[in-house]
Amino acid sequence: MNTEGLLAARMVRLKSSAIRELLKHSKMEGVISLAGGIPSSALFDFEGLAKATQIAITEQPEHAFQYGLTEGSHGLRSRIADLCKDRGIVATAEDIVVTAGSQQALDLVMRAVVDPEDVFVVERPTYLAALQTLELAEAHLLSVGSDGDGMKVDELAEILKTRKIKGVYLVPTFGNPSGVTLSLSRREQLVKLAAEHQFLIVEDDPYGELRFTDERLPTLFEISKTQYGHANNIIYTSTFSKILAPGLRLGWVIMPQWLLNKVAIIKQAADLHASSLSQTVAENYLALGRLDKQIETIRAAYKQKYNVLAELLERELGHVLTFEYPKGGMFLWARFREPRNCTEWMKKTLEQGVVFVPGEFFFSDNPDYSTFRISFATATEEQLHEAVARLKRAL
Ligand code: PMP
Repeated sequence: MNTEGLLAARMVRLKSSAIRELLKHSKMEGVISLAGGIPSSALFDFEGLAKATQIAITEQPEHAFQYGLTEGSHGLRSRIADLCKDRGIVATAEDIVVTAGSQQALDLVMRAVVDPEDVFVVERPTYLAALQTLELAEAHLLSVGSDGDGMKVDELAEILKTRKIKGVYLVPTFGNPSGVTLSLSRREQLVKLAAEHQFLIVEDDPYGELRFTDERLPTLFEISKTQYGHANNIIYTSTFSKILAPGLRLGWVIMPQWLLNKVAIIKQAADLHASSLSQTVAENYLALGRLDKQIETIRAAYKQKYNVLAELLERELGHVLTFEYPKGGMFLWARFREPRNCTEWMKKTLEQGVVFVPGEFFFSDNPDYSTFRISFATATEEQLHEAVARLKRAL
């Protein structure tokens, strides 16, 4: 049978992810992977999760195993609203939709706001799977550069002189893949531009709690509320994946009412609601009061790994590489001083038994082939030592 023409046109355009092919190797025996964007399961609070699950199964089975509200259970949404207060976000349960990870939040939001060819601006580099949601929604992507202070908002201001844009997607705090954080002045400038030019900001914040210092910059959501008394054009997404457990597949999105009702309809069409069992477990876990300590544990462990890695890279590879030094999160972004294709180079590092993600995959356009992302969350300190030695040998 000739199946040509059976796929939707937008699917034909969609690029297959070469990264998946590459990362097949990361599972090979003896290979140290600095590639995956996954949290360390060695740090998961299995004891707390077991307690929370036990309560769900034995005491709340009708809640845990029954259909629920599309927006998510009211109890969990209230708890999330409390959590967000610590991040400076004033929201109520009614402003929140619980999603199947923040990945789904991005997908639902893009579907709700992007008409084909609407212009969305992203950072260069940016989170790969957000690009996919934008491509699926048929957005026209433009990108602006980023440096140690995050997205270059001045470049965005230049674009706005000639183009009308629908929105900006960014990871302002401890970005994936760059690790960098948008400075306070750029945050204020971005929120101001969004208000003046009436575009949306999708603030993706999975890593904000994983800070290595005491410094906490206000979210874009918070800045907008403080300066303009509202956040009607700011969409804030976050997740339990990096602070609790990604397998729960629970994230959330805080958004203005004009958008929330529409997103809820798309959510209903997609999967009715996030897993009742996961939501019940998460709500119970929060009620047990263990999350703060758990976040402290993760922060301390990642900070230690990061310090080890940064020192090793500096000492062993500082002559050929430059880095952005993250103040939190799970990623370090490196760039060769002299041009080098890191996808090609990875064939050599693979022979030595170490993989990372070549930077080119994180660009919507103009890829910088000389860059790569190192994830330091899952490797042990010993593995980090060995990995850097292997990288050096592969040079
Ligand atoms: N946004 C960013 C920037 C991410 O790095 C990730 C996870 N890799 C997500 C969103 C999605 O995470 P989840 O769906 O597990 O919440």
